[in-house]
Amino acid sequence: MQLTQGPLRISFCARTDPLPWFEALRKELPQAQLEAWSRGAQPADYAIVWAPPQQFFDEQTQLKAVFNMGAGVDALLKRKIAAQLPIVRLNDAGMGVQMAEYVCHALIRHTRQFDVFEAQARAGQWHEPVPLERGHYPVGILGMGVLGERVARAVAALDFPVLAWSRSPKQVAGVKSLFGATQLPAFLAQTRVLVNLLPLTPETENLLNRSTLTQLLPGAYLINVARGRHVVEEDVLALLDSGHLAGATLDVFRTEPLPPEHAFWRHPRVTVTPHIAGRTLVPETVAQIAGKIRALEAGLPIEGMVDRSRGY
Ligand code: NAP
Repeated sequence: MQLTQGPLRISFCARTDPLPWFEALRKELPQAQLEAWSRGAQPADYAIVWAPPQQFFDEQTQLKAVFNMGAGVDALLKRKIAAQLPIVRLNDAGMGVQMAEYVCHALIRHTRQFDVFEAQARAGQWHEPVPLERGHYPVGILGMGVLGERVARAVAALDFPVLAWSRSPKQVAGVKSLFGATQLPAFLAQTRVLVNLLPLTPETENLLNRSTLTQLLPGAYLINVARGRHVVEEDVLALLDSGHLAGATLDVFRTEPLPPEHAFWRHPRVTVTPHIAGRTLVPETVAQIAGKIRALEAGLPIEGMVDRSRGY
């Protein structure tokens, strides 16, 4: 990669207010020229983007790297992007701890029956249900990457049995690792609380369907914090109605915002949140991206390069 002569030019392309981003970038890279992208803009050296239009890549042909403002690159990979242009995704950048909070909250709310107590309180009822046994609630985490591992460690620290499924084997204390398509049935058969933290790729799209979800232990609970397109939503509704699924906490949906008529809004055993499980935090994200730009300009390797052949 050629080192930049003169000031670095950074283009910002996302449907969000660029000013907080520019303020943080000026602190990290005071010498950089910052520009919110619009048609016909000057060529930039680096880009910070979220779901940019195709025209952005058609025009910005001198980029040395493009930084995605999130961990998942499924939306970005729908664009035609020059094969040699490095695509860099966020590595945690403050999202890991948020994911751990979100998943532990949903898990504890279900297994300590806070959802039951909320309903009882609304009805003015004082009643002690039989407690659930932690050991009967093995937590299976789909995807053991940056976020999956952070979540697995947090759940293991609460003394739940934890297993994880990934493409390659992992070694994390207190977590049983299963991997590859052939071990998916064994993973599902041992899981009662399923946490989805996979990237959305052609291999993982629609992975959570009637056939796979039926293989979970009876009375299973689904926590989806990855992407809506991993889940066949009608199948989840059918399995909630049959009782095979006890409930679900869902942060992501096939259509976002979730349409007002969608059955998930009103289902008594479904909790819906508006894609907030791991929010992109400006200071952490800018610090990470600026550090990577400095490393690239110094000819050093960086983490978080997307492998386009795998799709994540
Ligand atoms: P990551 O580091 O790339 O980890 C992905 C994990 O999935 C890896 O363990 C990988 O296995 C595994 N995997 C991928 N394809 C697989 C397959 N076909 N079979 C088995 N395992 C497979 O990603 P991350 O940073 O943890 O992020 C995960 C996802 O979370 C993102 O892609 C995004 O969709 C979602 N997300 C959601 C929010 C939100 O607010 N709801 C926020 C941030 C991210 P290997 O380790 O073996 O490669």
